[in-house]
Amino acid sequence: MTLHRAVCCDVDACLALYVAAPRLGPDAALYAAQRAGWEVRAGGLSTRCPCCARGGLPVLERGDCPVCGGSTFTTADGDRCHHCGHVLPAPPNWGEDTNQDQDDEAAVPTGTD
Ligand SMILES: [Zn+2]
Ligand SMILES: [Zn+2]
Repeated sequence: MTLHRAVCCDVDACLALYVAAPRLGPDAALYAAQRAGWEVRAGGLSTRCPCCARGGLPVLERGDCPVCGGSTFTTADGDRCHHCGHVLPAPPNWGEDTNQDQDDEAAVPTGTD
């Protein structure tokens, strides 16, 4: 069984969660969270997600964000987090087009084969 170390936000209303890689111990998990933008104080006794750390809105809705666990919305660059602003790289085939010469804003899927 794999144990994931999770770091959660100290703010009561906030659902933010940072799930560290399974191999990381508690210290490394905190360090990883910190590098991802979390605020870690007193050796891990106090942790705040990136949004609460900068006085933003707490995460009220869980989503796909790997940094804070918040909800994301789709942009041209990939999925962007509502809360911490983290952008998930789009999946390899996302929005891929067949040899387009012009940069069309409206990418309409056309059956070219
Ligand atoms: Zn928070
Ligand atoms: Zn986020």
